[in-house]
Amino acid sequence: MTAECKPQLPNAKPSHTGPLAGEAITRSTFDQVMVPNYAPAAFIPVRGHGSRVWDQAGREYIDFAGGIAVTSVGHTHPKVVKALTDQANKIWHVANVLTNEPALALAQSLVEKTFAERVFFCNSGAEANEAALKLARKVASDNFPSSGAMHGETEKCEIVACLNSFHGRTLFTVSAGGQPKYSQGFGPLPGGIRHVPFNDIAALTAAVSDKTCAVIVEPIQGEGGITAATKEYLHAVRELCDKHQALMIFDEVQSGAGRTGSLYAYMNCCAVPDILTTAKGLGGGFPIGAMLTTEKWATHFGVGSHGTTYGGNPLACAVSLAVLDIVSAPETLKNVNLRHDQFFMALNEMNRKYNVFKEVRGQGLLIGAELVEKWAGRGKDFVAACAKQGLLILIAGPNVLRFAPSLLITSEDVEQGMKRFDSAVADLLASETSVAA
Ligand SMILES: *Cc1c(COP(=O)(O)O)cnc(C)c1O
Repeated sequence: MTAECKPQLPNAKPSHTGPLAGEAITRSTFDQVMVPNYAPAAFIPVRGHGSRVWDQAGREYIDFAGGIAVTSVGHTHPKVVKALTDQANKIWHVANVLTNEPALALAQSLVEKTFAERVFFCNSGAEANEAALKLARKVASDNFPSSGAMHGETEKCEIVACLNSFHGRTLFTVSAGGQPKYSQGFGPLPGGIRHVPFNDIAALTAAVSDKTCAVIVEPIQGEGGITAATKEYLHAVRELCDKHQALMIFDEVQSGAGRTGSLYAYMNCCAVPDILTTAKGLGGGFPIGAMLTTEKWATHFGVGSHGTTYGGNPLACAVSLAVLDIVSAPETLKNVNLRHDQFFMALNEMNRKYNVFKEVRGQGLLIGAELVEKWAGRGKDFVAACAKQGLLILIAGPNVLRFAPSLLITSEDVEQGMKRFDSAVADLLASETSVAA
């Protein structure tokens, strides 16, 4: 018996599954047409300027989230809009069989401003880390080949990563990441990865050996709860990598592009990596990622060894060049440090009133407030209470409130945002007391 093959109309599905194109877009449209891997808020932002955002109903929000540390110069910055529209009228895409001016200008600027001598462009943080990990394996395989191994595999293949770290969602980067909840259910996972407790020099020393090809570390863990590596730890990573001829990879996808008050966090700790990855704030809202390295390591990525269609896209690079120009300016980095102090003072003052934080921590405008035991696991309730008051904030794990606003946020916006935050916390505490009563 052969099954009859009926031609399917493109829309041959039950009528209840989705709205017709052209119907009003609302939050419930999300549930009808999107894969349910996100749980977005009830309101939909439609417009932004500086550190303010407006939703479909015209309600205004102060943006302390920055699209998860992405909109580094705020929304619709005139210089960035100009860079985008100027480029939009020139050329959008040429593929990497050709090169383009914006990509070369951006690479030049990154080389000039950092330790890097060579740059690889891609479209996201995960892809930048994927490139970094692949490059480390390639270097080891070229320099320490094992005889008779398939695919040029080498015994020097181990990658050491930290528990609680986050490096992206591709299978390789999610396996390198130190939060099992993100890799659960996706096995078999790539092998050769070891995890060690963060900031534990003894554990690191025990794990790194001549079989190690790379150590990957976030100078300040973002998704893991805004926890900074100690200077001693980062120096130990550098020393162990040198001793065992392994590459030191700094994942600065979140901490980079001015976020910590230096252009890159490695500049604060005086430990220079072999490879640095950057994305998020680098594009200011336009997707781009980059892997920075030295000439010595870059030569191992010869023609054809790695690539991506959109990497170095002229629109992305033109935007990023304008963003980099702004975030690297001394007055921007000065603002980051001034607003950092303002955030810390306001959060600590509020805490004296409400007693909700165990600790306020972070660097520059990457700030975490860990909730006390009583509120543990309730981060999302704070986010929702803030949205009600017209304030966007984030969490970093269930117990930590995260603030990652525009690096250009004004003291007035911080002050007003903090007033809204105060009202949100007061509301949440009041509703909790009334429930208990
Ligand atoms: C967000 C993040 C990534 C992943 O970046 P994507 O652009 O989401 O792929 C990797 N590492 C760190 C430290 C991050 O914060």
